Amino acid sequence: MATRSGSFRPHPMSRSSVSNNTIPSNFSSRLLSWYWKVARDLPWRRTRDPYAIWVSEIMLQQTTVKAVIPYFERWMAKFPTVHRLAKAREEDVLKSWQGLGYYARARNLHAAARIVSRDMKGEVPQTPEVLRTLPGFGPYTVAAVLSIAYGVPLPLVDANVRRVFQRILLIRAGGMGRIDARIRDVLLALLPRKKPGDFNQALMELGALVCRSQEPVCNLCPVRSFCRAYEKGLQEVVPTPKVLKVERVRAAVAIIKKGPLVLVQRRPEKGLLAGLWEFPGGKIDPSDRDPREALERELFEELGCRSRIGRHLGAVEHSYTRFRVHMDVFEASLVGDVAVGAGRSWVSREALLKKYAMPSGSARILERFLF
Ligand code: SF4
Repeated sequence: MATRSGSFRPHPMSRSSVSNNTIPSNFSSRLLSWYWKVARDLPWRRTRDPYAIWVSEIMLQQTTVKAVIPYFERWMAKFPTVHRLAKAREEDVLKSWQGLGYYARARNLHAAARIVSRDMKGEVPQTPEVLRTLPGFGPYTVAAVLSIAYGVPLPLVDANVRRVFQRILLIRAGGMGRIDARIRDVLLALLPRKKPGDFNQALMELGALVCRSQEPVCNLCPVRSFCRAYEKGLQEVVPTPKVLKVERVRAAVAIIKKGPLVLVQRRPEKGLLAGLWEFPGGKIDPSDRDPREALERELFEELGCRSRIGRHLGAVEHSYTRFRVHMDVFEASLVGDVAVGAGRSWVSREALLKKYAMPSGSARILERFLF
């Protein structure tokens, strides 16, 4: 990445209003010098296009850089402008997002693109007041897009930045709202007038590569001399590591064929994995003696007709943030006809692959058991 120059003067709007800020302003110059040397060459860092930066910021929420890169490149090839995204069908948008998870992000991006295309001549707004009225723009996304695309000096706090500053300031306890407010105050004083976007990206880069949640690499840290946790040897225990409880769920899924077609249905418009297509089936209750029995019951409730459950084809496991699903997959046939129409269809494998957005678990069932 090309070396960039910039001034490190703190942003003047807040210097006097900052409390508890004990970090000298050469923090910013150290951080930026480091960033300009080591920043990863990422596709969204090679452009100044606000739309591309916006897309990357939405994709990067809750998702790793490595996972995002191929999605971002395919997305920008398919929807290179706000107008092209605005004109796309929702099915196409969700299909392009398939596998990234948190599909509300794609829906909001699409809805916001329609507004920007229709009401704003396709130009991504340059002020926080307007930007935050668009679907999917919270304080983090507003600050990220404006600072990186337009050089607006707005501080941002994401999980990486929060962790870095909890260590630097040695913030060991407190609600997230209060912690973020304190960090924002400190950042306002440190944010350089020029290149605030680089400063924000440098902090996120530091959190991702060096000040990692586990085993931070303090000997490579450009701001080690400012860090109270490092000074006290507490960097491994601040912030307190979270133990995420993962619920295990069992489900049974039916592959019901009619000639070359297979039955799929669309999930409700609201809730988890909203609007995605999946094979019929449902949860196996702990009281169910046998997954076949559970599947027969679920199919009757969902489709309104009896079924015969056939061969067990295998099982697929998939993890979501807070639960892990084990899906037993069976062949099945229907006794009688099922009503199709909006939300339920007989579809070929090829059409499923090309046009129908599916949750990752269902996409793996398609890959493994329909050929
Ligand atoms: Fe994080 Fe270590 Fe740097 Fe402190 S010194 S900011 S704990 S990497």
